[in-house]
Amino acid sequence: MKRNIFIGGAWPYANNSLHAGHLAGLMAGDVLARYYRLNGDNVCYVSGTDCHGTPITERAHEEKVNPREISNKYHAEFTQTFKDLAFSYDLYTKTDDEFHETEVKRIFKKIYDRGFIYEKTEPQPYCEQCEKFLADRELSIICPSCQTEVKLDEDSCSKCSYIFTLKDIENAKCHICGKQSVLKNNKNLYLAMSKFQSEITEFVNARKANWRVNAQNETGKFLKQGLIDRAATRDLDWGVEVPVAGYEKKRIYVWIEAVLGYLTACKKICAEKGIDWHDFWRKNDANIISYYVHGKDNIPFHSIIFPVILMATGEEYHLPDYIVSSEFMTFNSVKMSKSLGNGILAKNIVKDFGTDSFRYYLVKNGPEKKDTDFSMEDFKATHNNEINNKLGNFVNRTLKFKGITELPNGTMNLDVKSEIEKAYKEIAVLIEHLDLREAATRAMALVDYANRFYDEQKPWIQAKEDINAFNDTIFTCATIVANLGVIFDPFMPIATAKIREYLNITKPKWEFTEIRSRIDLIKVMPLFTKIQ
Ligand SMILES: [Zn+2]
Ligand SMILES: [Zn+2]
Repeated sequence: MKRNIFIGGAWPYANNSLHAGHLAGLMAGDVLARYYRLNGDNVCYVSGTDCHGTPITERAHEEKVNPREISNKYHAEFTQTFKDLAFSYDLYTKTDDEFHETEVKRIFKKIYDRGFIYEKTEPQPYCEQCEKFLADRELSIICPSCQTEVKLDEDSCSKCSYIFTLKDIENAKCHICGKQSVLKNNKNLYLAMSKFQSEITEFVNARKANWRVNAQNETGKFLKQGLIDRAATRDLDWGVEVPVAGYEKKRIYVWIEAVLGYLTACKKICAEKGIDWHDFWRKNDANIISYYVHGKDNIPFHSIIFPVILMATGEEYHLPDYIVSSEFMTFNSVKMSKSLGNGILAKNIVKDFGTDSFRYYLVKNGPEKKDTDFSMEDFKATHNNEINNKLGNFVNRTLKFKGITELPNGTMNLDVKSEIEKAYKEIAVLIEHLDLREAATRAMALVDYANRFYDEQKPWIQAKEDINAFNDTIFTCATIVANLGVIFDPFMPIATAKIREYLNITKPKWEFTEIRSRIDLIKVMPLFTKIQ
């Protein structure tokens, strides 16, 4: 029976370019999507650009442009980066999208009407000069410990790590105009997270065995502290409007709105394709498997907040099955960060080194269970020694054997066939259980096996002494190539598409693939070139 696989890739924030570290975290989503599609399951794989929030309005203010211009610029850039990396999203959309906004407003109103979003008045920092309430990141403070002026968007001083007290915060200044802020009563809507403590605990306990260890630990910490109600609206003019009277000048807080993108994007693409979106969201449907792919800094949004929002609607949604939260990828041992700008920009590396090698390296060296480091030396070694010398070379010496322009008629070696079948089964289990590093390594082990088989058969001698044996060897090796053209697809979609084109495989499936003899081999070209 076909399973319904929902895969949600994290929504990158539209305030800076993507670097290799982001993509290392997101790559798992595309590996899963490509594998499940080949396996014949129904897949809905979505993501989009997170367009709202203060970092974007601030940036717009600095550059003297409209926030929409900033978010559109990065949305276009992200869309291109994902395309360059052959991400196979069914829909890559953005939160500044009418369908998303309409659906978010409907859900927000529903939760409000059910009493889980409520009004509360609390004193908040206010700037009388700018006539606005200030978010933490709009406040600056002279650190009482090191005397440096720092932004208040962290609990501690970014220079000396001094932890700010409430008294210090009372002295904070408006970051925009420099005037001393005052405390003023402010009315906002809050999501009653605390009412879901027992339901969320029950959900987490039922599912967490499937989650990455960091997700289990981080979620456990939040549950132990007890869930706290969170402000669901804020004083900002950029974002989704609040569908409640008296809140015309406020917007829905980005944390509640962006995660709903998983649901709205799925609904949107299903409507376009004429599929029933419920097939990916029906509560407790054992035929549905959902994966949420993101970095470890986003865990509670996926393991607690999003499930709370879904529960609060009373609309009986399927809750997340797998929390695929990666660790970080560092670059020469420094954490890659958008704001630090020290990572390798994805758009540059694809241009310089190609999609397939970058993808394979990010998966094989992926920060699955611990932080990993991107080193250019290691990347080159992987490209040259594994991808080019093992995979590229095997394909080339099989399909471009000297003097052969057409695939000969031979008999498939049955030991090799069962080795290929074993690889399909083992790699499927590894991918479904998110051991993607192992899955990529196992796929390359099949290439090692193939090269050993080739060397043992010695087709260069068979060609002179035993033409039937030669034909069997080349036919068997070409069949291995055809199957590598399926097995490697989740990791290297460009090279595998070429292999399948060379060998006339039009409907690839995750199972032993047969080929016909008499295939024209003249068009075959080397798949990779060595990096010098
Ligand atoms: Zn300090
Ligand atoms: Zn001000």
